[in-house]
Amino acid sequence: MTMHHQNDVPQSTARVAVIGYGSQGRAHALNLRDSGFDVVIGLRAGGASTESARRDGFEPVPIVDAVRGAEVVAVLIPDTTQPKVFRDQIAPNLDEGAMLMFAHGFNVHFGTIEVPNGIDVTLVAPKAPGALVRRQFEQGRGVPCLVAVANDATRRAMSRALAYAHGIGGTRAGVIETTFAEETETDLFGEQAVLCGGATELVLAGFETLTDAGYQPEVAYFECLHELKLIVDLLYEGGLARMHEFVSDTAKFGDLSRGPRIIDGRVREAMRDVLAEIRSGQFAREWVEEDRSGRAGYAKMLAEDLDHPIESVGAALRAKMSWLGESRAEPAGAPS
Ligand code: NAD
Ligand code: MG
Repeated sequence: MTMHHQNDVPQSTARVAVIGYGSQGRAHALNLRDSGFDVVIGLRAGGASTESARRDGFEPVPIVDAVRGAEVVAVLIPDTTQPKVFRDQIAPNLDEGAMLMFAHGFNVHFGTIEVPNGIDVTLVAPKAPGALVRRQFEQGRGVPCLVAVANDATRRAMSRALAYAHGIGGTRAGVIETTFAEETETDLFGEQAVLCGGATELVLAGFETLTDAGYQPEVAYFECLHELKLIVDLLYEGGLARMHEFVSDTAKFGDLSRGPRIIDGRVREAMRDVLAEIRSGQFAREWVEEDRSGRAGYAKMLAEDLDHPIESVGAALRAKMSWLGESRAEPAGAPS
């Protein structure tokens, strides 16, 4: 593993066009400005982010105007909107020798964006949502980032990407070199198998097993969903060792003797299948086609997911959790 820290990184005052002012866009723009970059915000007319950028002291301009003359163009709009915006507004206006920067490799890796020759194409992916990227920076700290180069036209692409990562505070924590393929494939796998897909299905399967056996749904909710946070917090803070420190011997014995029966060979085989679909591009093709055709299947699956009894049981119980108000305003994390 190659990791970069602040002392081995070049400084820059380059003109950066930040396209999009959402979770990542806002954090990158503010941190880069504070680091001495010349930041211009490119937004579509009438979008909700325009006011947000103005409140922060920027004067957003149309995307085409932001791109013209920029040394770095950071594409920080949703991944599904990037191909069209790139084709129509970004690509025709890129300066020769500009660097295109992404925070997730999906479109470049799967070819839904075709980058012109003569352009550096890099990835700087903070391993945290934008709000934390900004908050850490303000406190003099930073969030670890991944960095990668897909196209090195100037032979300076990596050092330019590192300068960008430095500007958003990443080198204060450490910046790990990766590739577009590794970042994209592991990101998709994580959200499908473990973070979003795997974790929610595990919760639902546990909840249904208890309620089918006649236990009260409220009690099942606490055991299978609510208390997951406690365990995840311990894992996040100190790995398996910290969790073992804080749970009872009974919990540990149950974990060690029963856990492998739940996540068994069949689950691992399914994980390998899911990974193979990601690597072959099958998942990307399916999602791009779903998006292009109006997302009917996606909307149906989402509605079914939200129709689960755990949702109404949970809503009623959470209404009694007075401490939830604050944490709801700003999610602690969000797989991209
Ligand atoms: P977001 O949804 O928070 O922000 C989207 C921005 O794009 C907004 O300013 C919105 O107004 C604008 N936008 C939306 N549709 C548009 C369109 N059709 N044309 C022009 N502008 C449009 O996005 P985000 O979550 O910050 O994601 C940006 C990139 O960062 C993505 O590549 C994502 O994968 C990556 N990423 C996100 C996170 C995260 O925690 N959210 C973490 C790492 C990487
Ligand atoms: Mg699910």
